[in-house]
Parts: sequence; C-alpha cells; structure tokens
Amino acid sequence: MIKSLLIANRGEIACRVIRTARAMGIRTIAVYSDADAKALHVRSADEAVHIGPAAARESYLVGEKIIAAAKATGAEAIHPGYGFLSENAEFAQAVMDAGLVWVGPKPASITAMGLKDAAKKLMIAAGVPCTPGYLGDDQDPAHLAQEAGKIGYPVLIKAVAGGGGKGMRLVEAAEDFADALTSCQREAANSFGNAHVLIEKYILSPRHIEVQVFGDSHGNVVHLFERDCSLQRRHQKVIEEAPAPGMDAATREAVCAAAVRAAKAVDYEGAGTIEFIADDSEGLRADRVWFMEMNTRLQVEHPVTEEITGVDLVEWQLRVASGEPIPLRQDELSINGWAMEARLYAEDPAKGFLPSIGTLELFELGEVEGGRIDTGVYEGGEVTPFYDPMIAKLIAHGETRDEAMDRLSDMLHDSAVWPVKTNAAFLINALDHEDFASGKVDTGLIGRDGEAMAADPEPSDEMLLEAAMSLTPVSFAPGLRLNAAPRRVASFLLEGEPIDVELDGETEGGGESSVLIAENGKVWQMLPWRVDGSGHHGAHDGDILSPMPGKIIAVDVTEGQTVTKGQKLLTLEAMKMEHSLTAPFDGTVAELKAVAGAQVQVEALLARIEAVEE
Ligand code: ADP
Repeated sequence: MIKSLLIANRGEIACRVIRTARAMGIRTIAVYSDADAKALHVRSADEAVHIGPAAARESYLVGEKIIAAAKATGAEAIHPGYGFLSENAEFAQAVMDAGLVWVGPKPASITAMGLKDAAKKLMIAAGVPCTPGYLGDDQDPAHLAQEAGKIGYPVLIKAVAGGGGKGMRLVEAAEDFADALTSCQREAANSFGNAHVLIEKYILSPRHIEVQVFGDSHGNVVHLFERDCSLQRRHQKVIEEAPAPGMDAATREAVCAAAVRAAKAVDYEGAGTIEFIADDSEGLRADRVWFMEMNTRLQVEHPVTEEITGVDLVEWQLRVASGEPIPLRQDELSINGWAMEARLYAEDPAKGFLPSIGTLELFELGEVEGGRIDTGVYEGGEVTPFYDPMIAKLIAHGETRDEAMDRLSDMLHDSAVWPVKTNAAFLINALDHEDFASGKVDTGLIGRDGEAMAADPEPSDEMLLEAAMSLTPVSFAPGLRLNAAPRRVASFLLEGEPIDVELDGETEGGGESSVLIAENGKVWQMLPWRVDGSGHHGAHDGDILSPMPGKIIAVDVTEGQTVTKGQKLLTLEAMKMEHSLTAPFDGTVAELKAVAGAQVQVEALLARIEAVEE
C-alpha cells in the first residue's frame, strides 16, 4: 500500500480524497495556487506545496510543477481528482515515467475513451449499444448535412473532443444545420483545439443513466450499479441519484453488463463511469439505452454510489493503484436504499446563474440523519473567481427515494450562506417539482420549467415578524389582546428595500443593528429603519436616519424637491452592500444633510421629508 499521496486538485474533491487517505494512514500532500493559500484542502492536508498563480493553466494544469512537488515532498502517488489533469493521458504517463504511482487508469485507456468518435467505434466493436449516428472522418459540411438527413432530425452535433456540456448543438431541422455546424466547430476549435464533430440521433425523452465501474490490474472488472443524472441545466448535472427511478431488474442487468463490457474493452483499471442515454418515452427499456461516453476518473456524483453500496470508492482507488485486487466480488455488491446529491454552487439563479464571489461570512449547511456534506470551503473563507463555483455537495441517503429526497430538501432548507449567493433555493424548487418528485425526470425538465425554479424566494410573514421582533423588543400582553395597544408598523430595510411589518403590543426602540434571516435556502439582511407608533405620520416620521454606519455613495434628490413614496433618496454603502433609502411617503425634501462620499454614523439624520398637506 502506498504511504504518501499528492492530490493534484483543489476544492471539495481534494478534501474528499484527503479524508479517506488520512483514514488509511496515508500521508497527504496538497498543492495550491496563490488564490488557494488559505483554502480548506491546504488546511486539511499534512503538507502543502505552492505551485503558482491563481490561473489554473499556470498552476493546477501544469503537470511538471505537480510532479516536481511530488518529488520534493517524497510523495509516492498522485491522485488527480476530477477535472484539471484527471483525463490527461500525457500527464498520467509523465507521472508513471517519474517513478510515481498514478491513481487512475492506464494512459492507453484514457486515450481510447478520450475522443467521442473513437470511443464509440470501439464500443460498437465490443458489442455495446451506441446511439445511431455518423462517426466518419469526412468533415465536409455538405457531407455532414447529408449524414444528418440520413439519421433523421432532430440530431445532435457533438465535438469529438468536447466535454462538460460544451461543443454540442441540437438541430431540429435541415435548414438550421449549416449554422449550427459552423458555431459548434468554432466553439470546439476554441475550447478543445479540435474542430472535428460527430452527429448523433437526438434521443427524445432523454434520461442520463450512468454506471459506476471499477477495474484492477488483475483483470477484474465490476460495476457498482447505476446513477441517474437526468436533472441537468444546459447539459450540466444539477441533482444526481442512485439507483435510477423506474429501473427494473432486466434493464439494470443489461445496462450494467454493457458497462462492464465497455470497461473490459479498454482494459480498465480504477474508477470509471460509463454514461448512457436512455429513451424514456415508454419507461426505461433494455433495448433503448445507448452508450454515450466513458469518464475515465472519479465523478463528482460518486457519493450517491458510495451511499447505496457502502463502498468508499477513493479507498478502492488507492488499493487498486497499489496493486491490490478489487476488495469485493460482483456478487458481494448490492443496493441499499436510495441516495440523492445536490450540487451547491456559488451563483445567483435570479441573475442568470452568474457566479457569486466573496467572503463566506455565513456558511452553514443543513445536517440531517442520513446526510453527508462534501465541501471545499469554510465560514470566513473566500470564493474566488478563478475556479468552478461548486462549493459543496449535499448528499442524503434514505430507505426510499422519498426519504432521501425529503432529507436532501431539509438539508437545503437549513442551509444558510451569505453574502455569497447560492443556488440552494433553486435546488429546493427542483426537488419540489412534481415531475422530479414523481421520478419523471428527463434532461429537458429545467429547460422547460427552470425559470420558475430560479425565481428568488420571498421571506414568509412569520420570518419577517420574527426578525422584526428581534430588532424591536416587543412586550406582549396576550390577555389584553382585544383592547390592546394600537397596531404599530415597524419599517425595515430588506436588502435595501423598505418593508412594513405590523407588530402587536408595546414596542420599544433599540435592539440589534441588523439581523440575518434565513429561509428556504436563502439569506437576507434586515435592518431597522423606524417604528411608527400610531399609523399616522408623526413629527419625526419623515426623518431619514442612517440604519447603520457607512458611506453615502449617491444622493439622488435635492433640497426642496417633491418626492413620492418609495422614491429613492440616496444610497448608503455598508457591510459591503449597497442600501437604497427611500421616501416613506409623498412629500418634499425639507432638509438634506447627506453628502455623497461622506461617512455617516448609525442613526445620523440624512434627510427629512415633510408630508404633502392634504
Ligand atoms: P459532455 O462530454 O460534454 O458531457 P455528453 O456526450 O456526455 O457530453 O452529453 C452531455 C449531455 O447531453 C447528456 O447528459 C445528455 O443530457 C445530452 N445528450 C447527449 N447525447 C444525447 C443524445 N444523443 N440525445 C439526447 N441528449 C443527449
């Protein structure tokens, strides 16, 4: 067994590999870029080596630097994780040439599966069913168009060197083919340095079914059943599960056997995944599942397989790389319950899924029975713009699909990340979608209904009331409720927007200066603004006070100006956020103290609005 391991990766997967290696008593060595000096994987490893600037192509993608780091620290083996250099056959070879153990398949297996067209030809020869299509070398546009016609529309143009959902075009009709081909080839040339494409029948009601396989250096290959990764956004997986809903024993047997044949055809060693596309228009059927591609590495979604089989796939990788046989025989593997994984991204679904970066001031992930969290960040750490924005994977196991799904939903509901935005609410909505919930998911679901899932959630009245009360101490007199004190309206700023909350009972001023409210996977910050006693505007109700210490960055009105309720008066920057202060009612700007650029204290008078005489 190897005694030391360098992990040529970052983020959650580096942390995941380190966890198992440590449990096995293996010394762990991390590598890191400038941007990752304080990253979790660096903190988790026994040692860490700096390998260059933030840009991956100058650090995590530079094979020589990684091999040099392994040499310098006396590491015996290199685990590539996923992404980066994990499917780079030259790197795998260089690692072995340097006298190190490569935790992955032989370079020849990677190469054989590296290009989609060559892989499909190999699979056809091995008797693995493949999607009908054109795999030829003739790349003349007119010829490709003719082949597309033969296959029958709709077709998919795929860059043979493509990956990660890039370099694919769906073409619905012959007249759109030429344009789609040009743009696909351009993207393929730019992203992969290879403009070669293949054409495939586009499968309707497509489901993404993949099989985890494992090979060793003694010629054994087993499968660890299937995963369903059909819930995708732009061909990228969003929620994955194992087993696949609606999979009957005969179909499972056929798909898993085909996956083992595929792995054997490339003499596969280590962890790999055979991806299939299934036509689900009449449910999953053994004769409607076709090979798509093989990923010659550990997958992001490997935890769902671990949860249903009880196998630690990283442990198996390290054992097999050390020359041991696969620890279990096929007949010793079975499915226990159901597991589901959601990918938590630092991104803003309400803003077109734009990556969201910054300090994780708040980073809490929900914990439940049967739950598992794989993450690469921590509270107080940074999300930088240099790498994939996935910050955690939430995984839930249960006896049934419903139980796993409910637990995953609970984990997301209980997660609170701020001020970095996440897709947690989007994931909750996806789990709630009636088709997903009933297991009727195809890869187009988010394309059809994603907009509703991406809508920003509103905080519930209960949550607002609770938050308002924590900001404004209220003394309740429950027995006297009928003739209780007049209703009081507390006005608060929620992400810069004024919001009114009605409170019963006697309110007093004071309280905390701000409160974070978290609900349904989203976090807001609420600030007290003013508490209105009577419901009528009193003498000071038009006073616009600074809700917290900060800096005035814009003043939008002038003294004497007429303003309407809700109109923006000025912008305050505080706690790294911008807050708009608006007119509480129609009136005129009787006094204007705020000056752009000035620092202001909490409760400083910034402006005074006088109500219009009625
Ligand atoms: P990549 O290597 O970029 O991940 P894949 O070939 O694995 O590309 O395909 C990615 C996704 O595209 C699949 O998960 C599936 O949703 C969709 N897809 C691929 N091939 C087909 C097909 N023939 N018909 C319908 N959908 C497909």
